[in-house]
Amino acid sequence: MSHAEKSKKPQKKTRAPEKWSEAEKLYGIENWGKDYFSVSDEGNLLVHPTREAHRSIDLKAVVDEVALRGTATPIVVRFPQILESAVRELNEAFKKAIKEFDYDGVYRGVFPIKVNQKKVVVKEIIDAGRRYGSGLEAGSKPELLAALSQELSPEAIITTNGYKDEAFIRLALHGIQMGKTVILTLEKVSELHRILEVAKKRGVAPLIGVRAKLDARGSGKWAKSGGESAKFGLTTTELLEAVEILKQRKMLDSLVMLHFHIGSQITDIRKIKAAIKEAGRVYSKLNRSGVEIKYLNLGGGLGVDYDGSKTVFDSSMNYTVQEYANDVVYTIKTICEEEEVPVPTLVTESGRAVTAYHSVLVTNVLDVSDRIEQGRVVKITGDVNHVVRELSETLSSITSKNIRESYHDALQYKEELFTLFNLGYVSLEDRSKGEILFWNVCDKIRRLVKGLKEVPEEFEDLDMMVADKYVLNFSVFQSIPDSWAIDQLFPILPIHRLREKPSEIGTLADITCDSDGKIEKFIDLRDIREALPLHTMNKDPYFIGFCLVGAYQDVLGDLHNLFGEVNEVLAVVDESGRTRLQDVLPGESCARVLEYMNFDRQEILGGVWNQLRKATEKRGLKESEAKAIAKDFDTALSRYTYLEE
Ligand SMILES: *Cc1c(COP(=O)(O)O)cnc(C)c1O
Repeated sequence: MSHAEKSKKPQKKTRAPEKWSEAEKLYGIENWGKDYFSVSDEGNLLVHPTREAHRSIDLKAVVDEVALRGTATPIVVRFPQILESAVRELNEAFKKAIKEFDYDGVYRGVFPIKVNQKKVVVKEIIDAGRRYGSGLEAGSKPELLAALSQELSPEAIITTNGYKDEAFIRLALHGIQMGKTVILTLEKVSELHRILEVAKKRGVAPLIGVRAKLDARGSGKWAKSGGESAKFGLTTTELLEAVEILKQRKMLDSLVMLHFHIGSQITDIRKIKAAIKEAGRVYSKLNRSGVEIKYLNLGGGLGVDYDGSKTVFDSSMNYTVQEYANDVVYTIKTICEEEEVPVPTLVTESGRAVTAYHSVLVTNVLDVSDRIEQGRVVKITGDVNHVVRELSETLSSITSKNIRESYHDALQYKEELFTLFNLGYVSLEDRSKGEILFWNVCDKIRRLVKGLKEVPEEFEDLDMMVADKYVLNFSVFQSIPDSWAIDQLFPILPIHRLREKPSEIGTLADITCDSDGKIEKFIDLRDIREALPLHTMNKDPYFIGFCLVGAYQDVLGDLHNLFGEVNEVLAVVDESGRTRLQDVLPGESCARVLEYMNFDRQEILGGVWNQLRKATEKRGLKESEAKAIAKDFDTALSRYTYLEE
């Protein structure tokens, strides 16, 4: 046990009982919180949107306040000031690096809208980025429509990715006519012909970028986005071919950007360095051959340290934003000096790093399904099955010296019990007794193992086996889809009672009827935790927060079981440190999610009414009762898809 936190404050002699002070450590807040999160003396999770210790928002107070106004959990609490802080951090890091390495060029960030297309998010990022000349990246027609409608600073660029049809290209050209720097990034050479054709037809000079397929790859889950077999990008031969085509048409000056993107959440800085080096060379060689490329766009990939371990683990990263900026600036400068070419304007399309921290999903625990067997005592009477007797003896003979042996015995007896049951030799009563004894053995072993310095590997699953299941009012598929789809880890913790030592461990389950709707992997400094320390339920609601869910989760979510978008609230902290709640946005109603599936509200009510009519005629249902039922259907259609109190 570390007493680091305690020793920070002078120990005052008071009569109040010493509060538990290990929450920051247990839940890793001090590692992944990045000064955005802390715990109050009352044990509530605090959010510091400006990263200043004296300005904070009490998350539990926010949830309580909106509940009074009739907006319940699950709810996404957004902190627009965190978006501002993140945009500032990224731009200031590049500014600092550019100054430090005396780089004769500038940095222009671009926000890839696909990471979070919510209007509040896009608007906030645009506002925060305006003074840095930040732009947007669009990967589809709707994203491009949103991007083109925004007022950006004159230096800002809009980049486009993904496959493009004629309408897409036309929109980009309209943007140029509107005075914007809209760059069409080639994913394939064949796209060039189409772009040139449309541009000629409309009499607008296009701005073109090329996405290069690098040999370098990322690391972590998106490693396959880079390298030769990547889905997107031009090979060297194709790149030269595109240059040749433009040369023949005397349009070489249309080629303004070189782009690459080797994947998201790159965990290892060495992979990033390798990619920058390669891209820097491609840029320089093109420049030397007379292609004056202005922008070098390094794509996304800047990571987020979700578990706070500062390692190359999938949910972590072994570098900081400043190191990233330093490496980009220094490497490109060095290569350009060697090759004697002018340095490019540096562009990154950092989405995850800018948005991840800005929102927290909060929801309430509905139920804890602990094992009924827990803590029960079994009396061994005369004619009990011999395996049950053996289990009972195993239980009473466990000591810290024979843990392993006892555990193996118990596992074997349990198996034997079930085999004998299937053959008809064991009664239901004996099977129940055997199961109770087995779980008692596991509980006892778990307590003993906790006291050991090193936990032997075979006991690591034990936590998971004895963990309670906390059922939460949300859908994994709607609210944290990456947890299900790619096993991504997020920091998860109670948002209150954090000065009270949690006595239980639990895994989480959602309210979909899908057996995949659960979370059984949690962040840990060294490994992955199989269960989460949690409190016992009392008569008050118990709220769990899912942190760092601002990137991708808002928009990748789906309507599995027709659980819709959740309620939202924006929270800001003003100069004097007071919390202000802006826009409470209601989540989707039952009628709304049914509409997506073409179930019309009136049609549903009509169908219900027809059946009620028949019931009044044939089954003697009272007219007044039928009316009341119809009204209840009407109300239910307007309500939240999640469970309400
Ligand atoms: C998804 C994507 C990004 C964003 O990547 P992050 O790792 O979230 O920063 C940037 N550029 C392109 C082309 C993308 O497809």
